[in-house]
This record gives sequence, C-alpha cells and structure tokens, in this order.
Amino acid sequence: MKKKSLHHPHNHTSCIANAILAAEKISLKKKVQLTPLRRDILKIIWGSHKPIKAYTILSILSKKKGVVAPLTIYRGLDFLLELGLIHRLESLNAFIGCPHPLSIHRSQFFICTTCQDVMEMTTVSPINLIKKEAEVINFTITEPIIEIKGCCQKCRI
Ligand SMILES: [Zn+2]
Ligand SMILES: [Zn+2]
Ligand SMILES: [Zn+2]
Repeated sequence: MKKKSLHHPHNHTSCIANAILAAEKISLKKKVQLTPLRRDILKIIWGSHKPIKAYTILSILSKKKGVVAPLTIYRGLDFLLELGLIHRLESLNAFIGCPHPLSIHRSQFFICTTCQDVMEMTTVSPINLIKKEAEVINFTITEPIIEIKGCCQKCRI
C-alpha cells in the first residue's frame, strides 16, 4: 500500500475529519469526554500540518468564543496529548496533530525548517538503538522524542 504523503497537495478537509473521527473513537474507548472545547482545540491544531503554539490556539479560540482562560487551553492540550491525538514538539514548543493516533508509535518527527511542515517517522524507529545505548550508560529515558530538522521535498524543488 502506498502511503499518503503530506508533501503533496491533498484534500486537507479529510485530514481534519479523520482526526475528529479517531478522537471520537479513542474517547469512547477510554470513556473520557471529548468536550466541544477539546474538539475545537483539536480542529485548530489540525488547521494545517504545521506546528502551532498554545498562545496561537488561545487567540484563535478567543476570537471565536470570546475570552478563554489560558488554563482551559492547557488542560485541553493535556487531554489531547494524553490520548495521543496530538504531539508536543519540544524544540519548537508547539503542537501537531497525530495522523495515526489509533496505532502504537513513538514521537519521532521530521521538521521542515522552510515551510514548518512536520511528518512523523512511521517505518524506521531508531528508539531501540537509543535504548541500548542508554542501558550501557545506565540512563533512564523519560521522553523518547526525536526531532530531525531539514528540508522537505516540496521546499527543495
Ligand atoms: Zn492534510
Ligand atoms: Zn503520532
Ligand atoms: Zn518544507
């Protein structure tokens, strides 16, 4: 099966729809509530494949709904993070929607420094090699997040 590449133009509406569908499925399974606010935050994050900062989400949401407390946003983000629906990119201090939250995977990303698009690594996982190395030096990994910066196909042409 050929993987859908985020490099190419695609119908982004279906990305958003899929994200919401997956969120509903996971919430149901975990018996947690995907409140309208949490749904809105997820939709805003899925506005593009570019990472978005918490304060940007806050300003978009405030324009839509009037004043929203920052704490509400952070709680919503924590909820979405916990369910694996979004990821936090540590190096950018921003959030990105997970395109396959229903499968088990780790946080490994390619980040284009030109257009800011983020792609998750799906086929190769360097984490096992890293774990071995950590064992050797008796290092406990708490956040196995890998962020590789570079230039995407779209921007190289
Ligand atoms: Zn898309
Ligand atoms: Zn993911
Ligand atoms: Zn790019």
